[in-house]
Amino acid sequence: MSVESLFPRLEALLHKVQKPIQYVGGELNSTVKDWDETTVRWALMYPDAYEVGLPNQGVQILYEILNELPETLAERTYSVWPDLEALMRSEGVPQFTVDAHRPVRAFDVFGLSFSTELGYTNMLTALDLAGIPLEAADRGDDDPIVLAGGHAAFNPEPVADFLDAAVLGDGEQIAIAITEVIREWKAEGSPGGRDELLMRLAESGGVYVPKFYDVDYHADGRIQRVAPNRSGVPWRVHKHTVMDLDEWPYPKKPLVPLAETVHERFSVEIFRGCTRGCRFCQAGMITRPVRERSITTIGDMVEAGVKASGFNEVGLLSLSSADHSEIGEVAKGLADRYEGTSTSLSLPSTRVDAFNIDLANEFSRNGRRSGLTFAPEGGSERMRKVINKMVTEEDLIRTVTTAYTQGWRQVKLYFMCGLPTEEDADVLGIADLAKKVIKAGREATGSRDVRCTVSIGGFVPKPHTPFQWAGQADHETVDRRLRALKDALRNDKQYGRAIGLRYHDGKPSIVEGLLSRGDRRVGKVIRAVWEGGGRFDGWSEHFSYQRWMDGAAEAGIDVDWYTTREREENEVLPWDHLDAGLDREWLWQDWQDAVNDVEVEDCRWTPCYDCGVCPTMGTEIQIGPTGKKLLPLTVV
Ligand code: SF4
Repeated sequence: MSVESLFPRLEALLHKVQKPIQYVGGELNSTVKDWDETTVRWALMYPDAYEVGLPNQGVQILYEILNELPETLAERTYSVWPDLEALMRSEGVPQFTVDAHRPVRAFDVFGLSFSTELGYTNMLTALDLAGIPLEAADRGDDDPIVLAGGHAAFNPEPVADFLDAAVLGDGEQIAIAITEVIREWKAEGSPGGRDELLMRLAESGGVYVPKFYDVDYHADGRIQRVAPNRSGVPWRVHKHTVMDLDEWPYPKKPLVPLAETVHERFSVEIFRGCTRGCRFCQAGMITRPVRERSITTIGDMVEAGVKASGFNEVGLLSLSSADHSEIGEVAKGLADRYEGTSTSLSLPSTRVDAFNIDLANEFSRNGRRSGLTFAPEGGSERMRKVINKMVTEEDLIRTVTTAYTQGWRQVKLYFMCGLPTEEDADVLGIADLAKKVIKAGREATGSRDVRCTVSIGGFVPKPHTPFQWAGQADHETVDRRLRALKDALRNDKQYGRAIGLRYHDGKPSIVEGLLSRGDRRVGKVIRAVWEGGGRFDGWSEHFSYQRWMDGAAEAGIDVDWYTTREREENEVLPWDHLDAGLDREWLWQDWQDAVNDVEVEDCRWTPCYDCGVCPTMGTEIQIGPTGKKLLPLTVV
């Protein structure tokens, strides 16, 4: 049955809202397929505003892969700003996709990608606007399957009541597999309704369906066990890993935004996974092992993507891009190819010790020498051992000094505050390090025209990391340490004026901590916050700590118990039945090593240390060098 476009009704509202362009769709490389010629239809959402959501790689990749399938359609939807939300409510316009302005409720799957837990309230807004019951238990056969993916889905328990299903890990293959299950089930006449469909997905072993699991609690509130409540449902659900990135060279046709967005470049993922072993880093832990895209595929993707989009900036994406085994060749090859054109290259994520100045020079050959960002994360040598960020002060000073002498004038240093075992002196160490950077830069260049910006984020312990057992620092401690750091920099007459400081207060991290390590009981807080007006919690101008504390009080949830409490080794954690491949004993040992300042090497260059991922997931590290060169293919 055909579904009509909501655009005529939406259009009548657009002159009354800010940035109406973000709701009209029609971007270069977007796709609109005929509804009636397809049988499985996905609405994909990045639950944030268009300007943040459009560049999201995960959504763009799935959008393209699903639309390439026969009889399958995928459209995108984003969070609407509160001004449009109010008008949609008063005029009865439901949540719509931007591609063909179809109502989200008409789709088979409503797939949300959560890179952060702070998008949970936006999911509730979208469900409510769509006319889909907020709680999965209240949905009927006419409602889509509400499915979560992305890094936050590695612990979907706080939103378990709102989700029908979640998938862990790489989405390319599982999205196709889910599409096939739905296609078959529909072809059979949808036997057993949504319950049977969910059962078929759960039985496949690759999709987590929260309602098929019961959670029992001890009297003191800890979890006793999480167990399937039906036969055929696996005890543990495993993550998905794409093993050959060259077989999945997406996005091929990057979306070109109509409105301003946070990144306006063509991003090519040059490898997935990271085994550096930074203990705070959930992304590194859950995306193991390292799988490199080959230099030739990277080159082909850049050429095709630039041609298809017209972007004049190419970003080489990964968790630590300078670690690609052929990054020097990639950089040189691309710099050669685009020399003298308006296409510039950027390397968004760089480690201090992997960085070398030849690389930086290649990347700036055709572009601006804007800023360089390095992330030592910990202010003292001891702190960096605890978090396994093996960057010495010497490494940092040497690298930054080289950058200054090669013409860079501005470097940004990223740190965290509130790390396990942290003391006041560790945070004050950030000021000492920044001063040494400026001092070395002035000496090396003979100029006072060198600057550094210190940017600080609050640490949040994450599931599936060695710090999953750690007590989070309370926000008063974080704020006190940050104030002391600010004073130390401001009062320094010699170097203080050359150092900028950017930080947020510690309160949002506590809310993120509650949502990251929460269990199903935390869902009531999310709902109370949303009902109290919570929207766009990732935006400081919309975030209200008080609203979250009120929501927790209303739901009877003790926030400290979920955040600042250290867990015992044998405590059942809310995500223990969700398998990222990491061996629990290995994670615990790594946590003990952290407390004892013991470092662990990267398994790319040392023997495997048995984190568990490769044997459990049937994966292996895939790195070069391939020895191939990226010759200029096209004279430009
Ligand atoms: S199992 Fe071994 S090789 Fe694989 S990611 Fe873990 S440490 Fe590295």
